[in-house]
Amino acid sequence: MNLIIFGPPGAGKGTQAGILESKHGLKQLSTGDMLRGEISSDSDLGKKVKDILARGDLVSDDIMIDMISNRIDQDDCAKGFILDGFPRTVAQANALDEMLSKKGKQIDHVILLSVDETALLERIRMRIKQSGQDARADDNEETLKNRLEVYREQTAPVLPYYEEKELIYEIDGMQEIDLVSEEIENLLSR
Ligand code: ADP
Repeated sequence: MNLIIFGPPGAGKGTQAGILESKHGLKQLSTGDMLRGEISSDSDLGKKVKDILARGDLVSDDIMIDMISNRIDQDDCAKGFILDGFPRTVAQANALDEMLSKKGKQIDHVILLSVDETALLERIRMRIKQSGQDARADDNEETLKNRLEVYREQTAPVLPYYEEKELIYEIDGMQEIDLVSEEIENLLSR
């Protein structure tokens, strides 16, 4: 089974994807983590994207599509995968479908974690405080506002695309972590 976990920054996508990975053996593919890995290893790609991430802007569609296409081909994705942070633009969503159909695969569900924006800002502020020196370079007040704006302008328009395909399952992401997981389990056992 192949899933997309969708929602604004701070919605809890990574947390739920991690739980799904351990419970169901689906591979969590976080494009944010992959890009941060490239930056910390100081690869050519890392050098190219470092400033983009620090600003909270989006890396180009071509780079992201290539990255995901190569990743999905690896053995650890054979049982299925959870896309966390991809697709983030309509162009990425289109490219994903085309790429999957060539590989004989498909997306089974899109899990949408819906959140209240005020509470969301509070959540991310907490994450910044708790992580102290280890805070992500893009977890700061200014970048956060930009990330939310980028989400509204470029990523939210992906939703109608999956609505049309009747793939969206919406969950209130402001609930406790366990309750969100429970709802995801309900969906998967249907
Ligand atoms: P968030 O907490 O905002 O969900 P992520 O860890 O998913 O953050 O992503 C961090 C950053 O990595 C984004 O702000 C963006 O710069 C870059 N990025 C991640 N995924 C993509 C993507 N699919 N397309 C373009 N840029 C991406």
